[in-house]
Amino acid sequence: MDNIFTRYSRQLLFWPEGKVSQEQLSKKTVTIIGIGALGTALANHLVRAGIKELRIVDRDIVEESNLQRQMLFDEQDARNHIPKAIAAKQKLSAINSAVKIVDYIEDVNTNNIEAIVSGSDLILDGTDNMRIRYLINDISIKLAIPWIYGGVVHSRGMTTTIIPNKTPCFRCLFPNIETGHAETCDTVGVLSTVVHIIASYQATEALKLLIEDTEALREEMIQLDVWKNDFDEFPFQNSLNKECPCCQKRNFDFLNMKHSAQLISSLCGRDSIQIAPMNEAITLNFDDIITRWSNIGKIEKTPYLLRMKYDDYQLSLFKNGRLLIHGTTDTMIAKRLYSTLVGE
Ligand SMILES: [Zn+2]
Repeated sequence: MDNIFTRYSRQLLFWPEGKVSQEQLSKKTVTIIGIGALGTALANHLVRAGIKELRIVDRDIVEESNLQRQMLFDEQDARNHIPKAIAAKQKLSAINSAVKIVDYIEDVNTNNIEAIVSGSDLILDGTDNMRIRYLINDISIKLAIPWIYGGVVHSRGMTTTIIPNKTPCFRCLFPNIETGHAETCDTVGVLSTVVHIIASYQATEALKLLIEDTEALREEMIQLDVWKNDFDEFPFQNSLNKECPCCQKRNFDFLNMKHSAQLISSLCGRDSIQIAPMNEAITLNFDDIITRWSNIGKIEKTPYLLRMKYDDYQLSLFKNGRLLIHGTTDTMIAKRLYSTLVGE
């Protein structure tokens, strides 16, 4: 739509190589896994900066409790139960129509992560889930795509940049999968400002990588507490583990994890369970489902999902067969609801 000299004028003045840097940036594709607090801030920076393509992946729908910190969403998105990937895409397209935005209303898992991130120049971590981070790390090392970790909880945050064949990988730095599991945003809350500080560090490193100013890249992991005014840097060059199962031995344990026919996950601290069929080719016929459900509850249909209150549960069913069940943490109840209401 517009002349790059106008739109990106302040950035062109800043870049080490002006127009050449901007052209490099305009050829880059980035995938953001999780478009919540960190993800919306990251997407906002990158789309405004003018990358070529942004892929955004998120399994959730916008809720009122997101609005305190997830900067691309508003009350109408929450009222209309819009999937986060769609709501974010709408806002981002209005911000910079020159950037191609690809949405995935999906749960990232071993089956789909490779297809989603293939061809990306960079992966950004906007998830709040440690297991998904190990999965991102596996695919990053396997496909040699850098990724930038970011984690926030309470008033604390942490970030580091992982570059295959150059820096230690996530498993070198955090060999124990349980690391970080103790507290989550759902149990101790999170301050919106720390989210944006960490996202800004991530986005800054992302821009350095994308315009290939590698000398400017940070070689430390950052950890800070914005409320207590703590700031620590941990140089990580000596953290490379020569025995690392991932970056040294190329055993992609998280990518190779076997699945059952259904992937059942409880949503951390949210009194909710998700059931996702592992057959990726499913597309539900909503009209059939509406006919079946019409006797048992009041159905609300949006272009992306069906919602229904059933007993004490709030159900959200997506076109690809994924069901979110709010109101229980019992996997047996969730499985029973799935087979009764959706089918096998
Ligand atoms: Zn490693």
